[in-house]
Amino acid sequence: MTEKPWLAHYPPEIPAAIDYPDQPLPLFLTKAAAEYGGKMAVHFLGKELSYKELYDSALKTAAYLKKIGIQKGDRVAIMLPNSPQAVISFYGVMIAGAVVVQFNPLYTEREMEYQLKDCGAKVIISLDLLYPRIQKIISNTSLEHVIVTAIKDYLPFPKNMIYPFIQKKQTGIVVQIENRNNNHHFKKIMEEPVPKEEPLNIDVDNDPAVLQYTGGTTGFPKGVMLTHKNLVANASMCDVWMYKFQKGGETILGIIPFFHVYGMTTVMILSVMQGYKMVLLPKFDVKTTLKTIQKQKPTIFPGAPTIYIALLNDPDITKYDLSSIDACISGSAPLPVDVQQKFEDVTGGKLVEGYGLTETSPVTHANFIWGDRVKGSIGVPWPDTDAVILSMQTNEPAGKPGELGEIAVKGPQVMKGYWNRPEETEQTFKDGWFLTGDIGYMDESGYFYIVDRKKDMIIAGGFNIYPRDVEEVLYEHEAIQEAVVAGVPDPYRGETVKAYIVLKEGYKVTEQEFDDYCRKHLAAFKVPRIYEFREELPKTAVGKILRRVLIEEEKKKLEEK
Ligand code: AMP
Repeated sequence: MTEKPWLAHYPPEIPAAIDYPDQPLPLFLTKAAAEYGGKMAVHFLGKELSYKELYDSALKTAAYLKKIGIQKGDRVAIMLPNSPQAVISFYGVMIAGAVVVQFNPLYTEREMEYQLKDCGAKVIISLDLLYPRIQKIISNTSLEHVIVTAIKDYLPFPKNMIYPFIQKKQTGIVVQIENRNNNHHFKKIMEEPVPKEEPLNIDVDNDPAVLQYTGGTTGFPKGVMLTHKNLVANASMCDVWMYKFQKGGETILGIIPFFHVYGMTTVMILSVMQGYKMVLLPKFDVKTTLKTIQKQKPTIFPGAPTIYIALLNDPDITKYDLSSIDACISGSAPLPVDVQQKFEDVTGGKLVEGYGLTETSPVTHANFIWGDRVKGSIGVPWPDTDAVILSMQTNEPAGKPGELGEIAVKGPQVMKGYWNRPEETEQTFKDGWFLTGDIGYMDESGYFYIVDRKKDMIIAGGFNIYPRDVEEVLYEHEAIQEAVVAGVPDPYRGETVKAYIVLKEGYKVTEQEFDDYCRKHLAAFKVPRIYEFREELPKTAVGKILRRVLIEEEKKKLEEK
């Protein structure tokens, strides 16, 4: 076995090491505006924005943020669905020297508040329709300014609203906020003159470009500090991996949310680096996606297994012309082999599985698009990326291929650490290796496989759910004595959230009542779909509830079916 057996599979076009541009991330946009100025950067429900327009808009945003007091290193929250405003804000914040903190627009007030307090953001950029929720929690946070925008700001006029997401929101919502001193309209910022470019004041190696929240291996969401260097490195690795794609010549479908690291890097950053056109959809919907592919002819389509499964389940899929697609990159959860095959049959393009984590910007492994692909495998480590299996028995690098253990990685895409959590940062590294928390193995030829997650995070329908988050809410219910939440296998969502509950004596609460209660306190994707009432829960000697035992029971039940 060679030290890095996977390198033997690399085609000559992919180098084992890369000479990274030593630059701040937003410089990709400056370069794209110079090189591809008139070319379309963003297509959004019929309206297009050129690279020049995108850059000018980001400069205006940056200048405005500075005007209202944002300084280098300050955190700016962005809570937007995929939209031109999301891309403009992302680059604008970084041009101002500030740090982007991404928020899922589906967060409840409680979740928003937790993350805002943790990151200490001074400004939030969000949708007008989310403003009432921000208003409720603003006094508990360090927010000083709210910038709101309406999705319709970037729709062509006059035009009937063509998208269900937008139709629902046409209620003329937040006009009253104009009267408040510290609220600002994005549209007004866009009416300002284009400011002069200023040199970027960024320490590429050390300054975080974004804080991406994730549960990591231990419970509560933590802010992952991804530096400019981390993200430039991962985008550069993407670039060499996709060597056949033409700079300035491709169209990429932006369905996966930009507030997740996967959408952020593989669509929002990669496209700008390469001068691709991004076709954005604010929300995944099967018919709209199929129609959009037929009409906008994207060549690249990054997604998650559940997205490909949902599309394949549409009985009309073969009626659409999906032949523009050359490559789909599937990440964030295991890709079932038959889904891969069927999707390739229907599009004629490649569907390639990759792997990564928020902490690794995200990609560390992938299959080759034009080379050896091994179905069921997450592929091989990327250039400059090293990976090892830490044996379950010894916690040292595994002696031979096939041995099961925790996957650990090294590379320039590995995070600087968790925001304000030095102890947890330390725990997640061992001898310079980042511990992924995923259990897997490497075969003889250097291909890696994921077997299970060491951590308890549930991935249901592409969303990450942290059991503790849900359990906390359950524990606040007066009737609950004990509760534990686990991800149980689900044929469509990959996993689904199940709550095991022990009621206090004398209480009777139905599943429906718990469902109503959880929906009030949690984002919909976190709400348990199954409840089981028990007399007691399995525990360790020190009283820790054994979540794993419950998951095993569930798996056994499925096998016996
Ligand atoms: P996140 O930090 O949200 O990107 O989640 C990272 C986790 O997603 C990893 O630790 C894995 O457990 C899981 N994951 C990502 N890609 C894959 C894949 N191709 N197969 C299995 N699990 C994956």
